[in-house]
Amino acid sequence: MSLRARLTILYSSLVGGILLLFGVVVYQLVSINLINQIDELLVQTAVDLVDNTEFNAIGGLDMASEPEFELATNVYIQLWERDAGLRFASASILHLRDPLAPLDRLPAAPIYRDVHIGAARLRVLSVPLSLGNRVVGTLQVGVNLAFVESTQKALLTVLIVGTLTSMILAGIALWVATYRALASLDRATDAALQITRADDLSQRIPYDAPAGDEIGDLVRAFNQTLGRLENLFHTQRRFVADVGHELRTPLTVIKGNATLLRKMGCSDEEALGSIESEVDRLTRMIGDLLLLASVESGKLPLAHHLVELDTLLLEVMQQTRVLALDRIKMRLGNIDQILVCGDRDRLKQVLLNLIDNAIKYTPPGGEVVVGLEKIDQRCQITIIDTGPGIPPEDLPHIFDRFYRAEKSRTRSHDGKGFGLGLSIAYWIVKHHDGIIEVESTMGQGTTFYVWLPLAQGDCQTNSSLVLGS
Ligand code: ADP
Repeated sequence: MSLRARLTILYSSLVGGILLLFGVVVYQLVSINLINQIDELLVQTAVDLVDNTEFNAIGGLDMASEPEFELATNVYIQLWERDAGLRFASASILHLRDPLAPLDRLPAAPIYRDVHIGAARLRVLSVPLSLGNRVVGTLQVGVNLAFVESTQKALLTVLIVGTLTSMILAGIALWVATYRALASLDRATDAALQITRADDLSQRIPYDAPAGDEIGDLVRAFNQTLGRLENLFHTQRRFVADVGHELRTPLTVIKGNATLLRKMGCSDEEALGSIESEVDRLTRMIGDLLLLASVESGKLPLAHHLVELDTLLLEVMQQTRVLALDRIKMRLGNIDQILVCGDRDRLKQVLLNLIDNAIKYTPPGGEVVVGLEKIDQRCQITIIDTGPGIPPEDLPHIFDRFYRAEKSRTRSHDGKGFGLGLSIAYWIVKHHDGIIEVESTMGQGTTFYVWLPLAQGDCQTNSSLVLGS
């Protein structure tokens, strides 16, 4: 769920919660207040009626006369004598023969009860009437609570509707208010993604913000990190280039001297052979490192000519067949005629590296199939092998420099692998606006895909393209 949606839900729930709490308090206060008023009315009516009640000669009860004061229409009265039963009832409940509230035990003190009579709810006050120490009867005064109930219902409706409306309004207000703030965050995210996609650390996220703006602070901090990373990358590339250049000279000297010693015939042939082969290996590695450093930094000059990819692929197949010998079967799949714009030598280097790897990692009796197909406005080169496959945990790293899968690492100094070939291929393809992908299943084999855009026109407009970083 988006941050904006989460904030909106949180904010409206908070507003709803506060209003609900407030509503409960208001509802309770109003209810208590109304009941208090009813109780006051009951007491007042009871006092007036008791004043109006007399005892006859034999200690029975008598309502002296109809109450002199005006009874409200929702007030009901019953006078019960202990032995004689109902002695008086107000006009509106003349038909009612049962007590308003239970009379099972004559109360010794006034008592309030909420009772239901038919559909009506009544609050009834029962007052004991005594002669000396003897309770001789009970006066019951009841009030219909319909007014209280309708007031409570109306209040409840207002509180619920008010709370829901406030929650919706608060949600809309926050949704609108966060739009502006989060839109700048979206823009910053887009810019950051573009920088990542273009692998261009020299770009910065544009954001104009007044001091104290949190998103502005975040963007500034991110831009500073980018600046620092850019510096580190520059330093690293310079370091690789410098070390490469520095190592080249002593290697040339060692190689020259080893050759001289051999010519003079004054040393052990095997030792000299070993020195020469290690020097060759190191020289190749330094060559690859220097190439990688310049292709990564975009400083490698690339020619930009029409290249017949099918012819180039056949040429590479011809060359690499020597490596496969009878050990591995080399087969051509679908080969379409395809023209791309690019640097023939560098593209050849990519193909050589991928096919060489396929042969190198496929065990005897295996097969390597190479294909070239046109798909929409692009072409797809596929190199399929039946080798051991690449472990899933290594797959995301194989285009990193010096990365070698566990198995390859343990086979020390086999062939010429340093873990640089795929990094170089990745950068060359990238600077041809292409993509290189890999799929692998352990125990079944690996497929590399290289996607390149087809040539549009004759490529002459950019005939001396030099890569920009
Ligand atoms: P290397 O010189 O070691 O072959 P690369 O950069 O060409 O270096 O390849 C990196 C790693 O990717 C290799 O060490 C190997 O583990 C793995 N790899 C590349 N191609 C294949 C393949 N066709 N089959 C299995 N593993 C491969």
